[in-house]
Amino acid sequence: MEVRNLHKSFGNNEVLKGIDFHVNQGEVVCVIGPSGSGKSTLLRCVNRLEEPTTGTIRVEGTDITDPETDLDAVRTRIGMVFQQFNLFPHLNVLQNLTLAQRRAKKRGKAEAEATAMKNLAKVGLADRAKAFPSQLSGGQQQRVAIARALSMDPDMMLFDEPTSALDPELVGDVLEVMRQLAQEGMTMMVVTHEMGFAREVGDRVVFMDGGVVVEQGAPEAVLGNPQHERTRSFLSKVL
Ligand code: ADP
Ligand code: MG
Repeated sequence: MEVRNLHKSFGNNEVLKGIDFHVNQGEVVCVIGPSGSGKSTLLRCVNRLEEPTTGTIRVEGTDITDPETDLDAVRTRIGMVFQQFNLFPHLNVLQNLTLAQRRAKKRGKAEAEATAMKNLAKVGLADRAKAFPSQLSGGQQQRVAIARALSMDPDMMLFDEPTSALDPELVGDVLEVMRQLAQEGMTMMVVTHEMGFAREVGDRVVFMDGGVVVEQGAPEAVLGNPQHERTRSFLSKVL
C-alpha cells in the first residue's frame, strides 16, 4: 500500500498536509503521535471511510482514490479494527462474524460459519460463538472484532488504537492476537500508544505530528534514538 502526497481538509482545517507513506507486503507498520495529529484520518483515508482531498493511495497497484474504484471491493480487501468494537449488540458472536461475509462476499451459511469458527479459534474464542457481545469482556469483544475482520480474508489489516478502550488487564490478550497475526505474515498498519508492541512487533515506526510524517524508521531507531525534537518530546511523555 502506497500513499503519495495525501492531503485531507475538513472545511478549512487541513488535517493531513502531504503524507508519503507505504506498507510493504507482510510488513507491520506502527503509527504513533499525539492526539489530533491525523493518525485516524490517515487510516480512514486508506480504506476510504474518508475521501482524500488530494493525493493518491495505491493498494497492490490499484489507485483507490480513482472515482471508478469499487469501494466495497477495497473494503473487503482491507480489514479495519477500531478502538470501539462496533459489534452488533442484538446478534451473537457467530452472527456478527457471518453477516458481512454473506452480504459482501456472497458466501453461503455453511462456508461463512466455517470461516467464522476458524477465526474465532485463532483469537481463542471458539467456545463463545453463541454469546452476545454484552456477555463478553471488552478484550473478548475486541478479539471478536478482529476475528470478524479476518473472516473477510483481507490482504491487509488496519488497527486504530485497538487497546485504548480496554481495562489494562485486558490489553495483553488483544496484543497477543495481533502479535500472532504479525508472525503469520499479515500486512498490518497499527495506530497505537503501546510502545512495547511497536518496539517488539513493528518492522517500522512512523511518528506523525501536525498532519505530517516527522520521522520513520526501524523501531529501535525511532523509539531509541529519535532524530527530531518533536519525536523526543512526544516520547518523553509516553515512555
Ligand atoms: P488522531 O487520530 O491522531 O488523534 P484525527 O485524525 O482523529 O487525529 O484528527 C485530526 C484532526 O482532524 C483533529 O483536529 C480532528 O478534530 C479533525 N477531524 C477528524 N475527523 C473530522 C471530521 N469528520 N470532521 C471535522 N474534523 C475532523
Ligand atoms: Mg485517532
